Amino acid sequence: MSNNFKKGTICVQGGYSPKAGEPRVLPIYQSVTYKFDDPSNLEDLFSLQAVGHLYSRISNPTVAGFEERFAQLQGGIGAVATSSGQAAILYSIINICKSGDHIIASSSLYGGTVNLFKVHLKNLGIEVSFVSPEASKEEILSTAKENTKAIYGETIGNPELNILDFEKFAETAKILKVPFIVDNTVASPYLCNPFEHGANIVIHSTTKYADGHAQSIGGIVVDGGNFDWSNGKFEDFTTPDPSYHGLVYTEAFKEAAYITKLRVTIARDFGACLSPFNAYITNLGLETLHLRIERHSQNALSLAKWLEKHPKVKWVNYPYLETSKEYEKAKKYLNGGGSGLLTFGLDTDIEGTKRFQRALKLISLAVTLGDTRSCILHPATTTHSQLSEKELEGAGVTTDLLRISIGIEDIEDIIKDVEQALEAV
Ligand SMILES: *Cc1c(COP(=O)(O)O)cnc(C)c1O
Repeated sequence: MSNNFKKGTICVQGGYSPKAGEPRVLPIYQSVTYKFDDPSNLEDLFSLQAVGHLYSRISNPTVAGFEERFAQLQGGIGAVATSSGQAAILYSIINICKSGDHIIASSSLYGGTVNLFKVHLKNLGIEVSFVSPEASKEEILSTAKENTKAIYGETIGNPELNILDFEKFAETAKILKVPFIVDNTVASPYLCNPFEHGANIVIHSTTKYADGHAQSIGGIVVDGGNFDWSNGKFEDFTTPDPSYHGLVYTEAFKEAAYITKLRVTIARDFGACLSPFNAYITNLGLETLHLRIERHSQNALSLAKWLEKHPKVKWVNYPYLETSKEYEKAKKYLNGGGSGLLTFGLDTDIEGTKRFQRALKLISLAVTLGDTRSCILHPATTTHSQLSEKELEGAGVTTDLLRISIGIEDIEDIIKDVEQALEAV
C-alpha cells in the first residue's frame, strides 16, 4: 500500500493487501516453520541472500503484516515486533550497545524502563546516565563519554506527563553522532511522529494504545532509516559479521541496516518474539486506533477541566490543558490531542487517596494504561515503588499523584463516578 495514505486509512488497511481470492482479513499463520522444495532456497535464506520466512522466532506472515502496518503508521522504513514493550526497549539498545558502552536517558521514564536501565543494563556492562528532561543541551552534553552510543527519552513521560523536548535532545544526539531513541507508547503513532522531530528509532509497548483493549502484551521497534551507521562509531554495522559469512550490514542493507541487524541477530538469538495470535489481536486493535485515541483525548481533557474546578482536588496535570506548562510543547509535537493519561493530587493524606480509589465503581484499579476501560493507579506505591526518593523526584512521582488512564466510555459517566468517589475523601 502506498505511503501517501493518511493515518486513519493506514490504521484500517495498511500492511496487508490480499490478492484475488485471498482472505480479506490478515489471517493467523499459527505455524512455527515453512516448507521448501530445494535445499538451495533454504541456504539462500540462511545467508540472507534471499528474503522470506524460515522460522517464526525470526519472522512470520501474521507478525509481518502487523509490523508493516505499524511501520507505515509510524512513518518508519521497517519494524520488528517483540513479545513485550520491555523486550522492544532492551532490543533497541543492545542492537547498538555492548559491555563498556554508555547511553544518556531522560530521567522521566516508565518505572520498568528505569529498572531495566539502572539494574540490568548496568549488570550487562552498559552504563546509563540519567538527565533531567529540563537539562540544557550543554548539561546533557557534559554527561557524554567517548563510548556514548544513544540518547533515550519518552514522548509523553509516564507518569509525569511532560512532553519530550525533541528539538533539544535531537540536536544533542546529532552533535554526539548517536541515534535518538524514543518510547512513543503513550502518544501512540497516531498523535506523534517522532521521526519528523529528529528521532532515529521509535519503540512502543503495543500492549497499550495499539492493542487498545488490554488483551495482548507486545512491543515493537521501528526504524526511521535516517541515521548514518557508518559514521565510525558503530563498528558492528560496518565490519563483517561472521554469523552471516562476513556480511556487512551497512553495505548489504543500506538505510535498513539497523532494523535488519536487529531481526537477524538480536531477535534471532534472544528470542523474545511476538506470537502470531497476539500479532493478529494487536493488528485488529490498530484498525480503530485513530477513533479511539481521539475519544481518549477528548475524555481526558474534559475530566481534567472538571477536576481543576473541584475543591477537593489540589492539582491536575494534563498536557493539553491550557494551564499546563507542557501545553506549548504538546501543541508542537502532538497532533490534535493529549492522549488518555492524566494525573492529579487530592487535598488529603495517603489514607484519603486510598478511600477515593476504593470508592470508584466504573474506574477500576488496574495496572495498565491505554485500553478502552478507564483505570486508576497510584504509581508511588505500585509501578514506581522500587525507586528511591531521589529517583521518584526525577520521574516526577509525588506521593499524592494519582494517574487515570481514561477509557472511551461516555464522559458523563466517568465524571459521575469520580464525583461520587470524591465524597468518600
Ligand atoms: C507499559 C510500558 C512499557 C512496557 O511495556 P510492556 O508491554 O508492559 O512490556 C514501556 N514504556 C511505556 C511508556 C509503557 O507505558
